[in-house]
Amino acid sequence: MSESVIAVSDLTRRFGATTALDSVSLSLPRGAVYGLVGANGAGKTTLIKHLLGLLRAEGGSVRVFGLDPVADPVGVLSRIGYLSEENDLPGWMRVDELIRYSRAFHPAWDDDYAEELRQTFALDAAAKIKHLSKGQKARAGLLVALAYRPELLVLDEPSSGLDPIVRRDILGAVIRTIADEGRTVLFSSHLLEEVEQVADHVTMIHKGTIALSAPLKALKAWHRGASLDEIFVAHVGSSAASATDA
Ligand code: ATP
Repeated sequence: MSESVIAVSDLTRRFGATTALDSVSLSLPRGAVYGLVGANGAGKTTLIKHLLGLLRAEGGSVRVFGLDPVADPVGVLSRIGYLSEENDLPGWMRVDELIRYSRAFHPAWDDDYAEELRQTFALDAAAKIKHLSKGQKARAGLLVALAYRPELLVLDEPSSGLDPIVRRDILGAVIRTIADEGRTVLFSSHLLEEVEQVADHVTMIHKGTIALSAPLKALKAWHRGASLDEIFVAHVGSSAASATDA
């Protein structure tokens, strides 16, 4: 098995009385698409924030590319492409300005690929970000996350609130990214049909613990072809799409 791009060991995180992550351990080898599934409030974003070094491990350890993201943010973040649920982009910039601005942070930025993505996503270079629709903003965020061909692409609920056409674009781009040999994608979602379409490996998180983490093919074989939604219900007793905070 190849080297783990993400290695989390016994990670625990509390917010007051809420245990957002409870002794989570996870080892994800590079070169695959990992779907992180769970209901609202399950702990997906908290886990992702630790991977990006935005939260310090209170208990346990987090390594990305073998590095501690809090101790070495540049070493880790320069190799990660990230699209957040909120997708906060500077509203006053135009699309071409956003591209130039983002390019300055990434020596590996690929101009041709950025332009190809801009055209694929039908983004007007002169349009102001604040005038873009939610779907167009998601495409712009994805362009910026992909254009330096990061080793690890992290997408937090990339499709939340988006229409099916944008979702298809996003999934298409995800698939393209992994087509580049050796790259890894981690995306969180509560849309299990979507995860089922694109993930090689599924990690189910429930009330801050890992309920299940296995290759999708193996999961389907164990559950005799059941849908991911049915498998989720079998393991945690409620649907990821409908369950709410623990
Ligand atoms: P969603 O799908 O709704 O984004 P999630 O799986 O990403 O959910 P998290 O955002 O990681 O879940 O939240 C896990 C738990 O931790 C929730 O109970 C949430 O309310 C709590 N939590 C997360 N961040 C904070 C914070 N900064 N302060 C207090 N509680 C928090």
